[in-house]
Amino acid sequence: MLSYGEARQKVIEAVSARCGRPGEETLPLAGALGRVLGEPVAADRPYPPFHRATRDGYAVRAVDVRSVPATLEVIGEIKAGEAFFGEVGPSQCAEIMTGAAVPPGADAVVMVEHTRPAGRRVTVERSVEAGANLVPCGSEARAGDVLLSPGARLGYAELALLGQVGRIRVRVSRRPRVAILSTGDEVVPIERAPGPFEIRNSNSVSLAAQAAMVGAEPVELGNAPDRLEELRRLIESGLEQDVLVLSGGVSMGKYDLVEQVLRELGAEFFFDAVAIRPGRPAVFALCKGKPAFGLPGNPVSTMVTFELFVVPALDVLSGAPPRPLPLFKARLAAAVKQKVALTHFLPAEVSWADGVPTVRELPWQGSGDVAALARANCFLVVPETRLEWAAGEWVNVLPRRGTL
Ligand code: AMP
Ligand code: MG
Repeated sequence: MLSYGEARQKVIEAVSARCGRPGEETLPLAGALGRVLGEPVAADRPYPPFHRATRDGYAVRAVDVRSVPATLEVIGEIKAGEAFFGEVGPSQCAEIMTGAAVPPGADAVVMVEHTRPAGRRVTVERSVEAGANLVPCGSEARAGDVLLSPGARLGYAELALLGQVGRIRVRVSRRPRVAILSTGDEVVPIERAPGPFEIRNSNSVSLAAQAAMVGAEPVELGNAPDRLEELRRLIESGLEQDVLVLSGGVSMGKYDLVEQVLRELGAEFFFDAVAIRPGRPAVFALCKGKPAFGLPGNPVSTMVTFELFVVPALDVLSGAPPRPLPLFKARLAAAVKQKVALTHFLPAEVSWADGVPTVRELPWQGSGDVAALARANCFLVVPETRLEWAAGEWVNVLPRRGTL
């Protein structure tokens, strides 16, 4: 059986090599948060565009303040945004504000805190090196330098950079559309009152939310009953989108029909089991050129397997490098015991009392326990190498997306 890392790698390789990208669109900057850049973005001018003062003070020639105190003639004042036509000569300086252009002749800025002004003169009390308290023109970027490349995901810093260079519209990848299809005769829409042995379709809710959180567009197809014809019809309509994600119907039960239908539709399977709990029967196939995921129906299994296997496929389809799993180490607050040698993803809570990440498994009733997961801010990732882990040992933690 594949490890979850191997299974992720299979998804990334298959989708990278075999699936088409959804195309591009042009958006105003304000609508581009979280999107993936589709074009290179270059600097429109040097950055900074002039030698920029980084402190309020006096623009000086460093040689003039090599021995201090040194009294200099103040030839003018330079505010941010203003032109200044003078030149700083020997034993001269100009009063300057943060963000203003250091004038010709000057090669450093002395902080106002280190000066004593007296009329049209100022006494500098500390020496500065040439280049102190200024950022040279073009040192952050030269005009024409490529600042962002296609595939960059647009977070707040990238958007700020686009704004800085005057890009009010930007070309981005279209969001991959994710068809979401739950299965199961017992599953009813959330707006309907369930019968005594029916359950509401919470998986379609979590899957749509997870898809949206990673920058994809959910397309909800509702629920398929455990009957071949209807399941086939809905799977075929799901395959019209960029990705198909199913929940339920992939275990060993008599009515677990998802794999059978995918096979009949000519799917090529890459895995139908992964060495994890919850989520072991997860299925990944390519069907009619589209990635198709059969995720186990237990709600926590569905959530974990979406995070592990569907997210990298969506990243690749978005034109971005797949984001790594943001695992980090935390200290176990209490011993953990498992029964089977599988990598476990357990609902847990990590906290930073005394600055050290400490993780505690939360009580839960297994992979149907949505309430437990809603209390968790992370998964405790217990490797299959050992069944028992002692308090104080360092283990991996996977944040529950959006909670940390
Ligand atoms: P299955 O993977 O189809 O065997 O389903 C496993 C468990 O998950 C069963 O207890 C199902 O009732 C439950 N389940 C399946 N689909 C959903 C769904 N869409 N929403 C909530 N629970 C589900
Ligand atoms: Mg089922």
